[in-house]
Amino acid sequence: MTDDILLAAHHVDVVYDTGDGRPTHAVRDVSLELRRGELLGIAGESGCGKSTLAFALARLLQPPARLAGGSVTLDGADLYDLGREGLRALRWNRLAMVFQSAMNALNPVTTVGRQFDDIFRAHRPGLTASQRRLRAGELLELVGIDRTRLRSHPHELSGGMRQRVAIAMALALDPDVVIMDEPTTALDVVVQREILDEIEQLRERLGFAVVFITHDLNLLLEISDRLAVMYAGRVIEYADTARIAAGGAVHPYTQGLLRSFPALTGARRDLTGIPGQPPDLRLPTPGCAFRDRCASAYALCETLRPELEPVGPTGGRAACHRAFQAPPAMEERGPGQSPVPSPLSRPTDS
Ligand code: ADP
Repeated sequence: MTDDILLAAHHVDVVYDTGDGRPTHAVRDVSLELRRGELLGIAGESGCGKSTLAFALARLLQPPARLAGGSVTLDGADLYDLGREGLRALRWNRLAMVFQSAMNALNPVTTVGRQFDDIFRAHRPGLTASQRRLRAGELLELVGIDRTRLRSHPHELSGGMRQRVAIAMALALDPDVVIMDEPTTALDVVVQREILDEIEQLRERLGFAVVFITHDLNLLLEISDRLAVMYAGRVIEYADTARIAAGGAVHPYTQGLLRSFPALTGARRDLTGIPGQPPDLRLPTPGCAFRDRCASAYALCETLRPELEPVGPTGGRAACHRAFQAPPAMEERGPGQSPVPSPLSRPTDS
């Protein structure tokens, strides 16, 4: 249902013009949709373009980055057409961001209370000083921090508390969308778990939608409704999380990522990782960008870039030639296994 779509990227391209004649094409033809109230996860290895995409979605790209193509819409309106006033009304009010390091969002030299106050004074001029203080206290308590901490400076708080404050600030004006870029990565596992639970509860209570960016795909299996896996600037798999969690990942890269991290809960398992390196984003990549690391690659993968296309009846999409051919060794494979055949079942490359 298109009415449900809150934030959407349409064929977004982002380039870093580094001035050396070799621009980095960090985000390539990315289209995705965030529905009202849902948590959309974006996963992929470091350097694949996740943060750049997050900044593009929030219209926060700074030079040398620029939107080189495509558009981003919020409730159908193009964010890149907004003027000064439109942007002011967008930031915090409708769309807020939480970064990996809360220190990016918090001012080290002013108290937490003062920082909430600044947001309210700028965006809710009708509130009195005592109303602003009351609301800031409520927000802190919403994320499990005592309101007396309004008097603290950021350095007087633990890393977990600072991240909670950053989340509370993002929620201050009741936005529709919060974009979270690795919000728990810098924290230890216990605090990470607490904050993830907190985000879940807040989402249930307040109904905002989240774009949650992380290198850890297994984490997204627990918290997201849908997920997009990025590789070398592109979305290579886009699916309901339930399908991926049930063993339905189609792209060999998604399968590799799932084997690369321990689950936050559940049994420990061997981490096999994915051998090799992603390609240099300053260079054009003919064919599939993952082919050199892919055990299932064959001749077509060298020459023709696979498009993100629907796989099966579930509405998921994948960019892999193997997903669209009948694999010869299919009948030998057990239930729940991927339809990507082993290298032994490759068609001849000649
Ligand atoms: P991720 O968030 O997945 O780790 P990024 O979006 O940070 O990936 O980076 C994507 C690509 O853009 C990388 O190749 C990175 O080197 C490049 N990049 C990021 N920031 C800059 C910058 N300020 N100038 C030039 N290149 C950049």
